Amino acid sequence: MKKITYSIVVPVYNEIDSLPELHRRVSEVMNSCGETWELILVDDGSTDGSTEAIRKLAGTDQHIQPVIFARNFGHQAAITAGWDYARGEAIVIIDADLQDPPEVILDLAKKWKEGYEVVYAVRSEREGETWFKKITAAAFYRLIYSITDVKIPVDTGDFRLMDRKVVEVLKQMKERHRFPRGMSAWVGFKQVGVEYKRAARVAGVTKYPFNKMLKLALNAITGFSYFPLQVATYFGFISAGIAILAIPLVAALRLAGSHFFEGQTTTLISVLFLGGVQLISLGILGEYVGRLYDEAKGRPLYIVREAPEDR
Ligand code: UDP
Ligand code: MG
Repeated sequence: MKKITYSIVVPVYNEIDSLPELHRRVSEVMNSCGETWELILVDDGSTDGSTEAIRKLAGTDQHIQPVIFARNFGHQAAITAGWDYARGEAIVIIDADLQDPPEVILDLAKKWKEGYEVVYAVRSEREGETWFKKITAAAFYRLIYSITDVKIPVDTGDFRLMDRKVVEVLKQMKERHRFPRGMSAWVGFKQVGVEYKRAARVAGVTKYPFNKMLKLALNAITGFSYFPLQVATYFGFISAGIAILAIPLVAALRLAGSHFFEGQTTTLISVLFLGGVQLISLGILGEYVGRLYDEAKGRPLYIVREAPEDR
């Protein structure tokens, strides 16, 4: 098997209009560095003809390794497949829409050559995105940073270069609800960030609507923290504390002849409040139990319909 230095992994979901430009820019950058490389295009169940376009591109350029999924398994699964199929010494994850400029790969590679094993790209600016996307993204990164037990760098997406050593470790991590950037922070190794300007999409629209972002945030939080489970305990202590203080107070007021706490309203409010807290806690518990159930089933993380020929 030929030795390959760089594997560029690209998750593709309905990106037909970005593919030719992606291929052109990646080829230009990678050919300029004079080392061997492959471009792994993971088709995540596209329905817009991207699959056919990937097959065609692979027919014209030997660098391209197509991995075609049986259906849409999601961005994280596509990244995982990229790790599994990559043969390079350094593995780069990059989006198909060219929001992460391929030219930055050379900056990442420079740090890798200096001995860093994870080089993540930090977004110093974002172009062509709505204020809603920018605000929710900024809140998302900060929430995850403050809640999770791993210090996941803020304003950092999946665009990064990792040494083979790191990817071999990540391949051992079979968790189902994945948060790749958290996983790659969790493993340790020598890590460094490189700043870049995130461009606008060349074509198409975002495949990350608000509900998908929320799901990803849940994966990040449940995957890297027990904090939500502990919230129920905190609430329990706070409610019990209030009760311990309130009971003698109310008893004393009644004995003194006050009618301040009479009537159903106070009872109703406290029952509704505690009922709400209990249901939310149950929901949080359910979220973790459901995830445990998914793990127990042990289904494959993705199903490949067509893999590169020589594996
Ligand atoms: N993507 C994917 N599967 C999905 C959703 C997205 O493979 O179910 C890919 C998509 O084609 C792109 C990358 O993941 O290459 C990032 O998606 P997108 O650009 O829509 O996210 P955004 O940059 O808006 O956060
Ligand atoms: Mg994008």
